[in-house]
Amino acid sequence: MKIVCIGRNYIAHTKELNNPIPEQPVVFFKPDTALLKHAKPFYYPDFSNNIHYEAEIVLKICKNGKHIQEKFAHKYYEEITIGIDLTARDIQDECKRKGHPWERAKAFDNSAILGNFIKKSSLKSIDNIGFHLNINKQCIQNGESKDMLFSIDQIISNISKFVSLRQGDLIFTGTPSGVGPIKIGDTLEGFIENQSLLKCEIK
Ligand code: ZN
Repeated sequence: MKIVCIGRNYIAHTKELNNPIPEQPVVFFKPDTALLKHAKPFYYPDFSNNIHYEAEIVLKICKNGKHIQEKFAHKYYEEITIGIDLTARDIQDECKRKGHPWERAKAFDNSAILGNFIKKSSLKSIDNIGFHLNINKQCIQNGESKDMLFSIDQIISNISKFVSLRQGDLIFTGTPSGVGPIKIGDTLEGFIENQSLLKCEIK
């Protein structure tokens, strides 16, 4: 399986990092070794001093597809959750400055924290999914999928034009504004529509 991630998909977040508004989805990947599941702790690595949380809606692809038309994209995922795209912001800033790829900043071990999946049919509306992240029981970031620059269906369609999607692949759909650093001792808890689906301690 692969983890596909979308960057700069909420205008307020794109502006908070002084990035231009993209004309098509900004896409990057994480390897399967980036997955951190089942409420396991994250151990702060020594290569960064500024790891940021990015809370995001995550889709699980339920059947293989390529060149998926936007109008059929909804058939390719049945389950969603909240995930955290951990980002070594200091390394990413250096990569951006040098014009290098982001993998060192984005693809490191355990950088894709994943919550428990729920059926999208259990949500009151698939057109506007609310989600939020608490750190130490304080709400620190929240978003609504209606504010995405590229919708879930547009993302699936766009990615599948150049990379085949397979059953079990995950798509991180981008983070809203309010990103910031994690620190050792923090407890992260992620919610979709007030359902707690993700927990992670920083050690
Ligand atoms: Zn992200």
